[in-house]
Amino acid sequence: MESVIVVGAGYMGGGIAQVAAQAGYRVYLYDSNPAATDKALGQIRWSTEKLESKGQLKESAIAVQDRISAAPDLTVAAQCAWAIEAVFEDLGLKNSIFKKLDVICPGQTILASNTSSIPITRLASGTKHPERIVGVHFSGPVPLMPLVEVIKGEKTSDAVFKASLDFVFALNKYPIKVMKDIPGFVMNRVSSAAFREGFDLVAAGITTVDDVDMAMKWGVGWRVGPFEIADNAGLDTYLRVSKAYKELGDESFAPRPLLEKMVQAGRLGRKVNKGFYDYTSDGQRTPFDITSLK
Ligand code: NAD
Repeated sequence: MESVIVVGAGYMGGGIAQVAAQAGYRVYLYDSNPAATDKALGQIRWSTEKLESKGQLKESAIAVQDRISAAPDLTVAAQCAWAIEAVFEDLGLKNSIFKKLDVICPGQTILASNTSSIPITRLASGTKHPERIVGVHFSGPVPLMPLVEVIKGEKTSDAVFKASLDFVFALNKYPIKVMKDIPGFVMNRVSSAAFREGFDLVAAGITTVDDVDMAMKWGVGWRVGPFEIADNAGLDTYLRVSKAYKELGDESFAPRPLLEKMVQAGRLGRKVNKGFYDYTSDGQRTPFDITSLK
């Protein structure tokens, strides 16, 4: 049984750990904040039990859970065939993790990043083996969403790129190939353009968050609206992603001041029950008037 280490046990890292364990890998989950790992393990228990109750697991939830353990540090990466980084969207932080993994992991270990926006070539800079660093960008919630972008950095080898496509299939996901290493890749460039446009229309008082979501669902055929996606993903993560784009020199993605105000006001999305919508414990929600923060 091959082993995988997932570095960063937040919304995405926990989901990636779960799907890797469901696919039969031995999984180690590491986070610099042990409370985040505990929370992720709790979420994985809940999610695998729910899948089991619907008959969507090919074995028991316990069998999947038993293949995942918390790692106290990064050293276990030395035994892993795959290391998947899913920490905050911050170039310096991610680059420092790849430099550490580059030293810890044997030559055949493939090092993957779940970055939403940062070119893989930048994440690999300063490492001795940039040819084994690749982008493997999942969509959240990871246990439910089938798409993964596989991104070829300037120095990623053809063999590593091919192995990454096979790895995604082994996780029962579908890979799309991103052959040039541009900020934001494919899916986020397209979907964040819709989010930015909708956000600017709402900030200008032209429409409301729920009407934009309805427009995209009932008018265009999206399953989930752009503000619903943002609330699920976390507005702090959205803000970090737009800052990362700006650092890469892409002004069109620059963070909107009102989005910064929402994050400062603690409106981080579903994880705190308030974002573009306010959520109640009985499953109701009401749209938030973002212009009230102006
Ligand atoms: P998150 O805030 O939920 O989790 C990030 C985790 O990284 C936190 O638990 C934090 O403690 C941990 N961390 C920070 N520094 C660390 C370190 N030095 N070592 C180990 N762990 C560390 O964020 P997320 O939404 O899971 O996003 C993670 C990555 O995935 C980001 O690059 C993000 O852009 C990308 N991504 C997010 C989404 C989404 O929908 N949220 C979708 C695709 C990709």
